[in-house]
Amino acid sequence: MTTFLAGGTGTPKLLAGAEEVFPPAETPVIGNTGDDVELGGLLVCPDLDTVLFLDGGVLDRERWWGIADDSTHTHEELHRLADAADLEGGPRYLPHDRQTSGRGIARWRRLSGVAEFMEIGDRDRAVHVTRTSLLDEGRTLTEVTRTLADAYGLERDLLPMSDDPVASLIHTDDGFEHFQSWWVGHRAAPEIADVEFRGSDDAEPTDAVLDALDAPVVIGPSNPVTSIGPMLAMDGFREALSRTPVVAVSPFVGEEVFSGPAAELMAAVGMDPSTRGVAEAYPFADAFVLDDEDGTDLERPVFRTDTALDTGADSLRVARAVREALEAVA
Ligand code: GDP
Repeated sequence: MTTFLAGGTGTPKLLAGAEEVFPPAETPVIGNTGDDVELGGLLVCPDLDTVLFLDGGVLDRERWWGIADDSTHTHEELHRLADAADLEGGPRYLPHDRQTSGRGIARWRRLSGVAEFMEIGDRDRAVHVTRTSLLDEGRTLTEVTRTLADAYGLERDLLPMSDDPVASLIHTDDGFEHFQSWWVGHRAAPEIADVEFRGSDDAEPTDAVLDALDAPVVIGPSNPVTSIGPMLAMDGFREALSRTPVVAVSPFVGEEVFSGPAAELMAAVGMDPSTRGVAEAYPFADAFVLDDEDGTDLERPVFRTDTALDTGADSLRVARAVREALEAVA
């Protein structure tokens, strides 16, 4: 058994061709939920869903989110209606007093569905309707995710990091907004003053997560701030990681980030935007997998390979390096 931590794309890319080294049935994934948003009343869990759709064989592997060849009739109609009704486009964060009334699971991540700011496909939306409805019926996010995983035929245990709501909020000079509103809605344009994981003081990892963290852990290439940060903000999670072997794959080659907002977010919270900064963010990590071209000298064991993850063969190569690192430190 080896447990992987996942944000949006990095860990799913690593797992996508690595079944031979990390068979899904023996490789649970713990997904970040700090990115989750309630949009138009539906709870969307982007990081869980990327693994759900990947393992379910329906993921759009161009974008690494949503369902391949999904239609977007509802999304388009929402925009047509908003235009016709002269309603300004999103992201439309609901007022503060609406953030905590009603569903506990939705707090501090509620956005209006008017002129929907994230493109949600029609089949994709069915997942969110089912998820939200089962939560409303009283099930936990862990139970609901298991039900959805069964429906998609997953062999893997897919575990939300917590059943308690945690919202990754980006503070800017103009106030704050949810990570998804900043990243998708505003294309990461507003300058970041700080990042907050609202709710994390009261959130706990689930029993299923703590059990999974008894196994050796791999942090696939991930943004350490908004993908892994919400997990580490829970004391119990951090403690569990310090008790088990942990191998992390860098999302950088030295100071060059592969993609996404990791460098900008790290700089904003005072981390060095580089492999070194990632290593500093993970004091509990016992070894690192770095790119051949990454000369960073860390005081922990380093295993090098070409860490570009563009094909299944790439995933297999990086997975083998991860396995080698695990065997060295376990
Ligand atoms: P995202 O930021 O929503 O995509 O979610 P993640 O937390 O999963 O971040 C993915 C991280 O993986 C980013 O910081 C990228 O720099 C990194 N990344 C993307 N593609 C590759 C790749 O091919 N190889 C490696 N090593 N890292 C990658």
